Amino acid sequence: MRPQDAWAQTLREQGRALPPSGLGLEAPRFRHRLVERLRVDGCSDADVLAAIGEVPRHFFVDPALVGQAYEDTSLPIGLGQTISKPSVVARMLSLLRQRPDGARPLGRVLEIGTGCGYQAALLERLARQVYSVERLKPLFDKARDNLAEIRSDRLRLIYADGRFGHPPNAPYDGIIAAAGGEDIPAAWLDQLAPAGRLVAPCQVGGAGEQRLVVIDRLADGSLRRHEFEAVRFVPLQSGVNDSGVA
Ligand code: SAH
Repeated sequence: MRPQDAWAQTLREQGRALPPSGLGLEAPRFRHRLVERLRVDGCSDADVLAAIGEVPRHFFVDPALVGQAYEDTSLPIGLGQTISKPSVVARMLSLLRQRPDGARPLGRVLEIGTGCGYQAALLERLARQVYSVERLKPLFDKARDNLAEIRSDRLRLIYADGRFGHPPNAPYDGIIAAAGGEDIPAAWLDQLAPAGRLVAPCQVGGAGEQRLVVIDRLADGSLRRHEFEAVRFVPLQSGVNDSGVA
């Protein structure tokens, strides 16, 4: 069964509405077009592109926004949060896979900021084991529903403050954050395995500018940091929140 068919079947079994038809049949074509655009724009990681070509992004967004699901744009997912732009997701996943010892497939990966679960679904195809942490209970619940079909031993969703990482399953080969703070929490670095790589938005300089930051833990245990392009992610916030108001 193709992934999008499996998703559709799960939603039907749960009695949940399928995204408006119209896009339903067209979705693979739109997804293919998005993948081609990402490729032309410079993404050369075939596995990342294949994952984006498989995961039905329109199942993760609000029904009213389904028509924009395959545009290269971020979209609101509720509580002031956003699903990231596909090109930024592709860029971060490609960076994550270019670890110092990138010859090995990604083993354990920690994602901070599950949001609607879209990137977690991509990671599930790219890593042996994914742990994804979300601090807003309604989004944690939404992601659990969205990911019901692929909920498996390979993907664990955790409701917690991701600034502390997720110590029980550390260390991680990869850590990827979808929210940016003033600095990289020490817990993330502590939980990064030798030859592991962290990719996260982070403030640099004083003016609140955010950049993609990559930190490698080298085989000798030392850390090496690189800064890449400017990005704009939602803030990394403290504590968990189940009030339904962010
Ligand atoms: N990868 C997500 C993007 C979600 S936006 C997707 O594909 O949809 C970033 C998410 O990070 C938000 O849901 C926000 O609630 C969450 N977040 C912010 N600070 C956090 C923290 N300290 N711990 C866990 N999640 C956090």
